[in-house]
Amino acid sequence: MDAYDELLIRLKDIDLVSQIGGLLGWDQEVLMPPKAAALRAEQLSWISKTGHEKLTNPRIGELLEQLEQRDDLNQVQMGNLRLTRDSYRKATKLPTAFVAEMAMHKSKSQISWAEARSKNDFSIFRDDLVKMVEMSRKKADYLGYEGVRYDALLDLYESGLTVSKVDPLFAGLRENVAPLVKKVIENGKKPDMSWVHENTWSKEGQEGLSQSISEAIGFDFQAGRRDASTHPFCGGPNPDDVRWTTRYDETDPFGSLYGSMHETGHGLYEQGRPRNLDFQPAGSANGLGVHESQSRLWENQIGRSKEFCEWSLPLWKKYFPKQMEGVSAENLWRSVNFVEPSLIRVEADEATYNLHIMIRYEIEKKLIAGEIEVDDLPDAWDNMYQEFLGISAPNRTLGVLQDIHWSFGAFGYFPTYTLGNLYSAQLLNAAKKELPNHDQLIKNGNFTPLLEWMRKNVHSRGSIIEPSALIEEATGSPPSPDDFVKYLQDKMQYLYELTS
Ligand code: ZN
Repeated sequence: MDAYDELLIRLKDIDLVSQIGGLLGWDQEVLMPPKAAALRAEQLSWISKTGHEKLTNPRIGELLEQLEQRDDLNQVQMGNLRLTRDSYRKATKLPTAFVAEMAMHKSKSQISWAEARSKNDFSIFRDDLVKMVEMSRKKADYLGYEGVRYDALLDLYESGLTVSKVDPLFAGLRENVAPLVKKVIENGKKPDMSWVHENTWSKEGQEGLSQSISEAIGFDFQAGRRDASTHPFCGGPNPDDVRWTTRYDETDPFGSLYGSMHETGHGLYEQGRPRNLDFQPAGSANGLGVHESQSRLWENQIGRSKEFCEWSLPLWKKYFPKQMEGVSAENLWRSVNFVEPSLIRVEADEATYNLHIMIRYEIEKKLIAGEIEVDDLPDAWDNMYQEFLGISAPNRTLGVLQDIHWSFGAFGYFPTYTLGNLYSAQLLNAAKKELPNHDQLIKNGNFTPLLEWMRKNVHSRGSIIEPSALIEEATGSPPSPDDFVKYLQDKMQYLYELTS
C-alpha cells in the first residue's frame, strides 16, 4: 500500500477514538448522572490512552520519514504531513502512563471544581488544582521549549505562540483599549438599562430567541443540537454532529442569547469544515484563535451591530411581548453594548473582555513558572481585578472559581480568546470589501453572503496551512491588532458620544 494511504487509514482510526472521547466529554457536561463520575473518568482515561498509543505507534514515525522525502505532494497532503509530524512529536514526548494519569485527573478535578464553584469554597478544589498545576509543569518539561516553560503550553493551542509574541500584543491592547474604557466609564453617555433590570426573562422565551437566531444565521440543527450546561461550550465529533450549550439567567436575557450566538459561531465553523478531508488533520478547524474568531464574529461584530438589533427586534418582541413594550432598536443596540467593568469573563463586554484575558494570562505565566503557587491564586486574582478593572469579587465563585479551564489543565488556552477577537475584526473588514452592501444585508437578516465568505475563505480551508498564514491568505495582511482597536474606537466613539 502507498505510504500516504496507509497514513490516512491510521489517522482515521485516531480521529474516531478522539470523536468518541468528545461525545463522552459532552455527555459528562450535559447529561451524566453524578454517580457515573468515577466510571466516566476510567472511560475517558482509556480513550485518551488508546488514542495516544495509536498516535505514538512507531509505524507512524516510519511513514512520516518516508513521506517527508517525497516532492510530489500537494498542499493538502503537505498539510496532513506537517500536522501529523507535530502531533507525533508532541505525543512521543509524553509517556503513555502520564497521559492516562492526566486524563483521569482531569475528570476528577472537573467534578471538584464544579462542587467548589457551587459551594463557593476554593478549598474543595485546592488539592486537585495543585496536582493539575504540577502535572502541567511536568507536561511542559516533557514537551520542551526554547524560551520559557509556559511557551510549551501556549503552542498546544496556537501553533508557534510564545510569551515573547503575546506580551507585546497585550501591551498594545492595554495602551489603546484601557484608556478607551476609562473614557467610556467617565464621560460616556450611559444607556438606559432599566427595561432590562426591571423585567424577568423566562427561560422558555430565552430558549426560543436563541434557537431562532441560531437557525437564522445558518446553524444546521439536523447536524447538531443545543443544550444547557454550567459552562457553555461547543463540541461534538464531526460536521454532521455539532453540539453547543448555553446557560440561562432569568434576570439577564443577553447572557444566553450572546452565549448562543458565540457557540453558534463555533458550530458554524465545525459544520463548514471540508468534507472531502473527513478524519484528516488538514480537515479539522485551524487552532483555537481562528475558532474564536468565528464565535466572536457572530457574537460581537454582527450580533452587537446596530443593523442586527434592527433586524432582531421583532424576534425579541415575539418571545417577550410585554417586556419589550416601548423598547426601540436603538434602545436594544445601546443596551447590548453596555460597557462596564464586571467580574465574569464570559459575560464581559467587548471593550473590557481582553482585560479579563490579560489577567488570566499574567497569572498563568507566573503559576507555570513557579513564581506563584495555588494558595496564592485567590488573592492574586482579586488584586489584579482591582488593578486592571477596579473591582473585586465578593466571593470565590465570582472570582477565581469562575472558569472551568484550569480544572482540566488548559493552561495556555486563554490568550487564544484575544487572538480570536483580533482575527474577527480583520476577517470582517476583508469580507466587507467583497460585500459592499454588508450593512443592508444584516439589516434584512440575510446572513448567507457573510457565512459563505467565511465558508470559502476560512471554514473550507481547514488546517491546510498554519493559522497566521490562513489569516494572511483570507485578509491580505498578517495578524495584527489594528483592525480590532480601530473597530472598538469607532464604535465606542459613536455609541457613547465621546468627544475625542
Ligand atoms: Zn469560544
